[in-house]
Amino acid sequence: MQLDLSLRPRTLDEYIGQERLKRKLRVYLEAAKARGEPLEHLLLFGPPGLGKTTLAHVIAYELGVNLRATSGPAIEKPGDLAAILANSLEEGDILFIDEIHRLSRQAEEHLYPAMEDFVMDIVIGQGPAARSIRLELPRFTLIGATTRPGLISAPLRSRFGIVEQLEYYSLEELAQGILRDARILGVRIAEEAALEIAKRSRGTMRIAKRLFRRVRDFAQVAGEEAITEARAREALEALGLDELGLEKRDREILEVLIGRFGGGPVGLTTLATALSEDPGTLEEVYEPYLIQQGLLKRTPRGRVATERAYRHLGYPPPAEPLL
Ligand code: ADP
Repeated sequence: MQLDLSLRPRTLDEYIGQERLKRKLRVYLEAAKARGEPLEHLLLFGPPGLGKTTLAHVIAYELGVNLRATSGPAIEKPGDLAAILANSLEEGDILFIDEIHRLSRQAEEHLYPAMEDFVMDIVIGQGPAARSIRLELPRFTLIGATTRPGLISAPLRSRFGIVEQLEYYSLEELAQGILRDARILGVRIAEEAALEIAKRSRGTMRIAKRLFRRVRDFAQVAGEEAITEARAREALEALGLDELGLEKRDREILEVLIGRFGGGPVGLTTLATALSEDPGTLEEVYEPYLIQQGLLKRTPRGRVATERAYRHLGYPPPAEPLL
C-alpha cells in the first residue's frame, strides 16, 4: 500500500502524458484558485487503467484540498450520499465517484441539487410523521469517472462543467512510466526493455506498470542485476503476451469472430454468448484495444474482423475484404 502510494504521481508535472487534457486542467485549476472558488464538477471518461483515479488525486493535491473517494455501486440509498456529502467534506473538497454510471437512479436524483445548489433534501421518519429536511452542503467538487460514458444520463452529464476523455498512452509515455517506477523501486532496467514492455501494454499505464513488476520477478529469479531487452522479451512471452500485447482472451475473441462467424458482422450479444462473456465486459474491457489496434470494427450491422486481424492470427485474408 505504502509502496503503491509512493509510485503514484502526486503533481500534474509528475503525471505522465495526457498533455492536451493537462494543458486545459492547468487553466481551470489556476482560474478556480484565483477566484477562490471550488473547481467545477468534472467528468473523466476512458477505458480502465488510464489514470482517472490518479488524476483526481493529482487535482486534489494541486488544489490543496482533501479527496473523499467512493464508487457508484457503494452508494445505494440517498442516505449514503447524504452521509458522505454532509459529514466528510469541507468547502472546496473533492468527492470522487468511480464507476459513476452505476449510481442508483434514486441516488442520482439526489445528486442533482447537491451538484447544482449544494443542498440535499432528505426525508426522515415514515408515514404521517415523515418530513423532509434540507441539508446545506459545503461547496464541493464532484469528480466522476466512468468507463462507459454512454450510460451516463443526460441530466447527470449536463451538470458537469467539464467533461474530458483520457487517451491511450504512446509507447514513449508508457516506457517513461516504467522507468519512473523502476527508479523509485531501485531497479535497473534498459530503456529498450522498458519499450519492449510498453509495446505489450495496450496503451494502458496500469498494464505497463503491472507487466514491469512481473518482468522484474523473472529478472530477479534469474539473478540478473539489470533487466535487459532479451530478458524482458522472454518474460513477456512466458506471460502469454504476443507482440501486439494481446492476451489469450483477446485472441479467442478474434478466433471466434473469424472462425465461427466468418469475420462478421455479428451482433455484440451474439458474439458475447459464443464466448460465454458478459456483453458489457466485452464492449468496455476487450473491444476498445482491439479497435484501437485496427483488429476489430464496430459497424451498424455488428462487429467485423479486419484484414489485419486475419493476418495477425495467421488466417488467409478474406477473398473480398469487408474493410
Ligand atoms: P483508472 O482510474 O483510469 O482505472 P488509475 O488511476 O487507477 O486508472 O491508474 C492505474 C495505475 O496507473 C495506477 O497505479 C497509477 O498510479 C498509474 N498511472 C495512471 N496514469 C498515470 C500517469 N499519467 N502517470 C503515471 N502513472 C499513472
